[in-house]
Amino acid sequence: MPIYIPPITRRQFLRGSLAASASLLFPRHLWAEEKTADLNTWALLSDTHIAADRAKVAREVNLAEHFETAVREIVELPQRPGAALITGDCAFDRGEVGDYATFARLAQPIRAAQIPLHLAPGNHDVRNRLRAAFAEAKATRRPSADRCISLVRSPHANWFLLDSLDRTNSTPGVLGETQLAWLAQTLDANTDKPAILAAHHYPDDCKSEKPTGLLDTAQLLEVIVPRKQVKAYVFGHSHVWKVTRHESGIHFINLPAVAYVFGKSVPSGWVLATLKPDGARLRLNCTDHAHAQHGQTVELKWRAS
Ligand SMILES: [Zn+2]
Repeated sequence: MPIYIPPITRRQFLRGSLAASASLLFPRHLWAEEKTADLNTWALLSDTHIAADRAKVAREVNLAEHFETAVREIVELPQRPGAALITGDCAFDRGEVGDYATFARLAQPIRAAQIPLHLAPGNHDVRNRLRAAFAEAKATRRPSADRCISLVRSPHANWFLLDSLDRTNSTPGVLGETQLAWLAQTLDANTDKPAILAAHHYPDDCKSEKPTGLLDTAQLLEVIVPRKQVKAYVFGHSHVWKVTRHESGIHFINLPAVAYVFGKSVPSGWVLATLKPDGARLRLNCTDHAHAQHGQTVELKWRAS
């Protein structure tokens, strides 16, 4: 089943656990009920690594604070984005129930801002616990019995949200035959618009002794390279912001980590994707606005269909 977290009302939000500070943090003018939506923009996040303890610091970064900053920036956008997507490693390390309770609380302003939230599990997540943290997620339809996969339609693109979690706390990931068959079939049934894929793990040529990315990358490429409507693959896992282009013309968009950065110079933050009929613009929003790469934009042009 997909992990789609529907918006909540302002009233539900104020009734929730953040009630005391919510109206201070999110004054009425920031509430998206009063904002127009731009369905062609998506907020892309990855690797939040939220621990149960909001004070948790890793690599000199307060993880919850970084996520809060990203959430606030998304909620404060002049126009409400069509959706927010987090490509995995929502939990700190082993997908503890307490991690997801904190994660769900921190993500709540996105929902209160009427922004649909989509989650793709990573290798530090436990699918059922992630899903259980959001009671409303349970009611969604199931294209697959175990993996969290879905097709989300937007004006300029169809988003294929995939699930590459194999074993929690084991680094590499796998899509598996069933999911790849679903992907091929669903791509064939939806050729009307560009397709953008998203999952946690990066493509991996699996030439090293211990591959750390997507173990069935070759099988994935077999599915997507000939299906010309596939234009981009979005992922996290490396905690590094990087946009490259596969020889087929498919763009590989490696999202930075929201938190848990592997080095001081590495940007952390999130990416605003603005879709156009023939491409997309990516804008990097660094947690540290003084970072040299803050505000960097990348223009992508889709390969021919
Ligand atoms: Zn991670």
